[in-house]
Amino acid sequence: MVDAFLASGQNYFDTAWTYMDGESDSVQSRKCLEVAEEFGKKVIVMEPVKGGMLANVPEEASEILAQVEDNLSDFVPLSKAEDMALKKAARVILDKTAIPCTGCSYCVSGCPQRVWIPKYFKLYNEYAAKPDDKWKVQPEYKKMTEGRGAAKDCIGCGACESVCPQHLPIIEHLKKVSEALD
Ligand code: SF4
Ligand code: SF4
Repeated sequence: MVDAFLASGQNYFDTAWTYMDGESDSVQSRKCLEVAEEFGKKVIVMEPVKGGMLANVPEEASEILAQVEDNLSDFVPLSKAEDMALKKAARVILDKTAIPCTGCSYCVSGCPQRVWIPKYFKLYNEYAAKPDDKWKVQPEYKKMTEGRGAAKDCIGCGACESVCPQHLPIIEHLKKVSEALD
């Protein structure tokens, strides 16, 4: 991501910036911000709650986040302890989410196979969190795929990956979905 930003030659950097994106190996927001600062680029910040994903975090992450006081009213910089707590919470969320898709659906309209990518990823995350619930998840998946491409129908064209703001390896993830649910 840093390389793509530098190669683009843009005079601004638009990023999905949350404490989670900062720690993500694919989004690399923290590294990109450092580069933007170094080169004096303007920054446009988007998706502050990651498509709603950060409104409902795992309990373990919630407990860590309780250490970070709301500072929206005065925008004081985070203390070192708060910054460390955010990084730790981000790691927990990333570790506990099999596929960190935000459900933005940018990838859907360009898919020639009409694969319902975010829906399948959401369902797969439920399955990955509780594999014993496969009996519940699989019929739901079958229903979702009626009249659309299933995960197994992906032809690997890459149209979806080129527009995913999270830079997810969608094709690889769909293979996992297919192995589990097709
Ligand atoms: S790579 Fe697969 S899921 Fe992505 S747009 Fe192409 S066919 Fe659809
Ligand atoms: S574009 Fe990426 S983050 Fe958005 S729904 Fe598709 S896979 Fe998920």
